[in-house]
Amino acid sequence: MTVNNKSVFPTLYHGAEKIPLNKTSKTMVRSQEDSASIALAMEAAKVAWWKMDLSTGNISYAERETELLGYPSGKLNHCNEFMSLIHPDDRVQVIKAMKNHLDGRTDRYDVEFRILTKSHGYKWFLNSGSVETKDKNGKPLIFTGFIIDITDRKLADELLKSSELRYRRLFESAKDGILILDAETGMIMDANPYLIELLGYTGDQFLEKAIWEIGFFKDIIANKQKFEELQQQEYVRYEDLPLETTRGKKINVEFVSNVYLENHKKVIQCNIRDITLRKKAELAYHQSEEKFRLIMENSADAVFIIDHNGKYLFFNQAVTDMLGYSPEEIKQKSLADFMLKNKRSNFNALFEEVLNKGKIYAEIEMIRKNRNRILTDFYMILLPNGLIYCMFKNITMRRETELLLKQKSRQFKQQNKEYQQLNSQLIQSNLKLISAVGKAEENDSLKTAFLQNMSHEIRTPMNGILGFSDLLKNPHLSGEDQQKYIRIIEQSGRRMLNIINDIVDISKIETGQIDLFIQDTNVNDLLRHLHTFFEPEAELKGLELNCELSLTNEFSRIETDNIKLIQILSNLLKNALKFTETGSISFGYNLRKNMLEFYVKDTGIGIKPEMQEIIFDRFRQVDISIARNYEGAGLGLAISKAFILKLGGKIWMKSELSKGANFYFNIPYRISKSNHVSKKPERLPGGRLQNINILITEDDSTSMLLLKKVLEFEKANLFFASNGQEAFKIARTTPELQIILMDLKMPVMDGYTATQMIKRIKPEITIIAQSACAFSNDQDEAIKSGCDDYIRKPINIEMLLEIIHKNIGKPVTPIGSMISDD
Ligand code: ADP
Repeated sequence: MTVNNKSVFPTLYHGAEKIPLNKTSKTMVRSQEDSASIALAMEAAKVAWWKMDLSTGNISYAERETELLGYPSGKLNHCNEFMSLIHPDDRVQVIKAMKNHLDGRTDRYDVEFRILTKSHGYKWFLNSGSVETKDKNGKPLIFTGFIIDITDRKLADELLKSSELRYRRLFESAKDGILILDAETGMIMDANPYLIELLGYTGDQFLEKAIWEIGFFKDIIANKQKFEELQQQEYVRYEDLPLETTRGKKINVEFVSNVYLENHKKVIQCNIRDITLRKKAELAYHQSEEKFRLIMENSADAVFIIDHNGKYLFFNQAVTDMLGYSPEEIKQKSLADFMLKNKRSNFNALFEEVLNKGKIYAEIEMIRKNRNRILTDFYMILLPNGLIYCMFKNITMRRETELLLKQKSRQFKQQNKEYQQLNSQLIQSNLKLISAVGKAEENDSLKTAFLQNMSHEIRTPMNGILGFSDLLKNPHLSGEDQQKYIRIIEQSGRRMLNIINDIVDISKIETGQIDLFIQDTNVNDLLRHLHTFFEPEAELKGLELNCELSLTNEFSRIETDNIKLIQILSNLLKNALKFTETGSISFGYNLRKNMLEFYVKDTGIGIKPEMQEIIFDRFRQVDISIARNYEGAGLGLAISKAFILKLGGKIWMKSELSKGANFYFNIPYRISKSNHVSKKPERLPGGRLQNINILITEDDSTSMLLLKKVLEFEKANLFFASNGQEAFKIARTTPELQIILMDLKMPVMDGYTATQMIKRIKPEITIIAQSACAFSNDQDEAIKSGCDDYIRKPINIEMLLEIIHKNIGKPVTPIGSMISDD
């Protein structure tokens, strides 16, 4: 280690002369014995002497010093060398202490510092000394002293400090109040923050007082005498002191005092614990325990408290009531003794189980003193304190009632089932009734609507007939007007006739009297005929009427009731014409499998979805208001549907409101047996009725035209009448007349009346009834009225020729084919 002497102690030494310490120092002059004994003492005390020449900074010392620091003797001869071994943190205070003494400010130089020892690192030393020699001016020359190893003491000090610190921390942070009193005076020496806070004081107020001056402690140490008790007894404990803090809060504390010595001084340490909450909890616990005991005592359920050996600690009155034993008798028995003999082992197993699982529940049969059995709900619960809480209730009655209830419930269920059945029957009947009532109401309103409609439908043409008949009475009427009025009367009559026909048809349908007259029918011809028939009306409304035929004539001949087919198609076409203002109407058919599917499509007003099903019911019309624009009785579709069903088909429709309606129906495609392979016969040149005088009586101009054309072709002489009255007139006034084709339904005078009248005056005239009437008995009627024969419209010319031939005895050559307008 190199030390620059001057730089370390520039002001501490001031000369160059080295003074050998052992020679110049008076204090070092000792006898040999003294020196030896001092050396021994010094070694034991780990002390070494030194001397410093302040003029040179050289140090001389007893051998001991270097040994103390562990360095070989001869080392550390200069103060700078010594200084360099001092711990850097301690150097300043060493220099300061030395300077203070050399400058005369202190009597002695005393300083504690650390020196780096040769082999034990830094150790603590006390260096103490004073100026030994001064020059004549008082300037210090020799500075002497000793150095002592204080490492052990320093360590002990540090330990003490840290234990004090630990104690202080405990004291400050303790959650019990701690008070240190001077045992002599009773003055408060210390109090921890918790206590000060608990009592509602500040530290200062507290510390200046004697303990009995603190209001809070007055109850404990009411006076000095009581304090003396604390002083004299080493340990005093008050378990529960009710106190009031300076803030008026009532609390309970536990107070313990201990007397002990601290630095030879008697002190009393008091520990004060706030037990208010604990007290409250204890109180609550006791109260609840009391409540529990009362409940147990008075419980209707039997309660035992037993320990794990089965010893009873408690049982209530209900136990004795339920089992019929006195309390003394019960105490003599174990719980298992109350069980059925053969179930005791089971019970013991349950007892084991509760110790393992914590609780059990079982239904157990027990035996009363009188040997009666009782069924019990039996609970056992392992309590936290290791005891077993045992509770049972007698459920014998309950079980009997339950069984009874179950039995009853089964009976009720059975009854319920029966009631449910009855109920559903009732519901069914109700539903039927409701729907019947609904239907009746609906029928009622429909009937009202129907009657209103009928009244309107009949009165309108009636009005026309009666009104214009009246006008016809005017003798000054022009011929043109007369014709016009007659035409109106005819139209009105025909309209009425249609209604009446519909009503007759519907009543026949209602009474199941529809009969079919299956004949060979050329569907193409039938459709063409209808086209011809309805075209004028379509033209009048500016509508296009298209007839679409998908089979050749050969394959369009089928067996069906052609009158019904015409009636169905006519109804549909009439509706199409009625409900269409612009656009077109197309009708026709297609062969689909073994059915002929007919259609009538229009571009008219269409039908809203909700009405599309019900318009097929009788009297149902989309618009039933009085102010409606369309005539009709609401029967056409119902009649058509009934006919179609009878023919073996069905009817349906598709429509979009305002865009039009498409009606479809089908009938079986039964190809005509007699003709389907034969080719359409060639038309013969006609003329087969030459010179035969025939009167055609027909109110319908189209039918009239058709007959006219056919019969003209056969070169017959023709007369025409548009009603029965005219026919009668012509018959009466035309002697050459041989045959009358008599339409049965006509205005002014019908065919039946006219026939009767004609036959009365001209029985020789052959009258052949021609009718489109669907009544099965109109043929009979016609014959009854005097007709010689009957032919159904549309007229089959071959059949007609046959009838004529039969009646006038003149054969005619058959020409086949139905009436056709082409
Ligand atoms: P009617 O035509 O005499 O009223 P229907 O039974 O023929 O009786 O028709 C019933 C109702 O169906 C009609 O009143 C009408 O409201 C509706 N209807 C039938 N055909 C058509 C159609 N082509 N377009 C629109 N509505 C129609």
